[in-house]
Amino acid sequence: MPATWECPSCKRRVPLAVEECRCGWLRSRVPVAAPRPSDPVRGTARRGWETWVGLAVVVGALAWGIYWMVRPPAKPNTKGILGYVDATPPPPSTRPTPRPN
Ligand SMILES: [Zn+2]
Repeated sequence: MPATWECPSCKRRVPLAVEECRCGWLRSRVPVAAPRPSDPVRGTARRGWETWVGLAVVVGALAWGIYWMVRPPAKPNTKGILGYVDATPPPPSTRPTPRPN
């Protein structure tokens, strides 16, 4: 509820406590303002648009979090000490196998 009323004659905002505008217009002559029909429609449309954007952001964040939780671990990129990396597998064991007698 606004604390003022608008004078339809001079468009001045007049406090509710003042019954008469400076131009002489009486508050009792002001017709009851009808609700503007475009307001609810515009509000609903904007709310719908914001809802969809918010929903998209939430879904994207959830998908990103789930991807980070279930993604395969990165391949370990280990470096050898002082830059040496032994890429070849160790040679087969030269230990003589015991022969059964
Ligand atoms: Zn007035």
